[in-house]
Amino acid sequence: MGRIFNFSAGPSMLPEKVLKKAAEEMMDYMGTGMSVMEMSHRSKAYESIIQNAETSLRKAMGIPDDYKVLFLQGGASQQFAMVPMNLLLPDETADYLNTGSFAKNAIKEAAIIRKINVAASSEADGYTYIPKNFDISKDSKYLHITTNNTIEGTKFEKIPDKGIPVVADMSSNILSEKTDVTNFGLIYAGAQKNLGPAGVTVVIIKNNLVRDDLNDLPKIFRYKTHVDGDSMFNTPPAYSIYILGMVLDWLLDNGGVEAMEKQNKTKAAMLYDFLDESQMFINKVNKEDRSIMNVVFKTNSEELDSKFVKAAEAIGMTALKGHRSVGGMRASIYNAMPQEGVEKLLAFMKEFEKNN
Ligand code: PMP
Repeated sequence: MGRIFNFSAGPSMLPEKVLKKAAEEMMDYMGTGMSVMEMSHRSKAYESIIQNAETSLRKAMGIPDDYKVLFLQGGASQQFAMVPMNLLLPDETADYLNTGSFAKNAIKEAAIIRKINVAASSEADGYTYIPKNFDISKDSKYLHITTNNTIEGTKFEKIPDKGIPVVADMSSNILSEKTDVTNFGLIYAGAQKNLGPAGVTVVIIKNNLVRDDLNDLPKIFRYKTHVDGDSMFNTPPAYSIYILGMVLDWLLDNGGVEAMEKQNKTKAAMLYDFLDESQMFINKVNKEDRSIMNVVFKTNSEELDSKFVKAAEAIGMTALKGHRSVGGMRASIYNAMPQEGVEKLLAFMKEFEKNN
């Protein structure tokens, strides 16, 4: 069987060019006689791999010099804990927006160690919109948002400005469209959607948020430790970083974030335009808050939904089942999903509607 169109929410499709290069370099990375997987992370060859990955990320996102870039482990979920551990002293507070299941997980994790305030929530309405008008608590240290809600298919069109640092979980839409990094104090993202394989988590943190007085916190959980160690305090997720670097080079070679944004908006609009016309498929998300990475839809019958997912699978389109918490379908169309994949899905949706 050849390659298929994989609509998984993550881990998800990677650019074919990157996979081919990784395969070519598997047995012998640039004359070293070994795979990157077997290489000391302190070797010269690896040093340039991790440095190039950082340089490419800085270039792709336009990350200013007063921000540090870290490659960590533990996924975005570990950042749910590390953010409050590093940014809040015991008597300090922060504000969170509850816009989806992962936002809620971030809230629950932070609430274990600190008193935090949920400034706004769309949970009661099934997370179908992004709250726009809300107040934050007095002396709040940061506002945490989830820029794209992977399960519910919503995203922030505008980053709220409340005069305090914004901390963003950008796991499912980093590099999908132009982002002004200076709007944020800290950005984090698990790699397994737009950046590369699982195992590495990118953290972009403004220098002034890196505290050096957290003596009660185990070193491994301090941002300062990883800043000082250039992400090499301990063994980094070396192979994942290598692939991430190649994904970034692929992105830069293909017009950078601007070109990705254009393609992503085209791909998403193809699906949403059809959903708006369809008599069978429904998307309940507030139009102005629609994600361009995760397009959710369902029919009014669970049986039909499951028939759709199975039939799509049979013709080479996989992982279209919606998250178990919401049901229905979800097409995750990250940067590496070619437009042909979306065209094929669209044609199939039209045919399915006609025949059922
Ligand atoms: N935040 C968002 C927005 C996500 O989509 C996910 C799922 N990948 C997570 C957090 C959790 O990420 P991880 O599995 O890397 O901890």
